[in-house]
Amino acid sequence: MNDCVFCRITAGEAPATKVYEDDTLCAFLDIRPIARGHTLVIPKRHATELEDLDADLGAHIFRAGHRLALAIRRSSLAADGANLVLNDGTAAFQTVPHVHLHVIPRKHGDKLSFAAGLLLRRPHDPTSTAAAIKGGIAALDNEDQSSTSEAEPSGRAEEGTPG
Ligand SMILES: [Zn+2]
Repeated sequence: MNDCVFCRITAGEAPATKVYEDDTLCAFLDIRPIARGHTLVIPKRHATELEDLDADLGAHIFRAGHRLALAIRRSSLAADGANLVLNDGTAAFQTVPHVHLHVIPRKHGDKLSFAAGLLLRRPHDPTSTAAAIKGGIAALDNEDQSSTSEAEPSGRAEEGTPG
């Protein structure tokens, strides 16, 4: 029995509102968000601090955070920007001992609500928030597909091949 709450989330033993996952990482809503849409990206394999994290996996985590930051701009949350923050170690105020990258949506003029969010850390409706972020990811996927087909018209020739 793992007592790391993030390992329990990746194992499906603890609840979380996931917005994205692949073989090596998952992204889910922070249960104490600073702002609506505040998401955490974590490696599935336990790593307490950057000291324990494979560098390629670290790059992959940042790539996912980058993509989420773009997705929330395109989502109905309509973010104008994002803070991507990784607190490494207790000296840096890392509160959960499993590496996590914060992606915190920002809007122009949100200084006061952001400051209040830092104090209150109050959850917003997770179901609709996750749906909004997934909508942003889908919008981003569509953009990628259309830019791929422009650059490489025959690039999707295998699309009809049965799985
Ligand atoms: Zn863990």
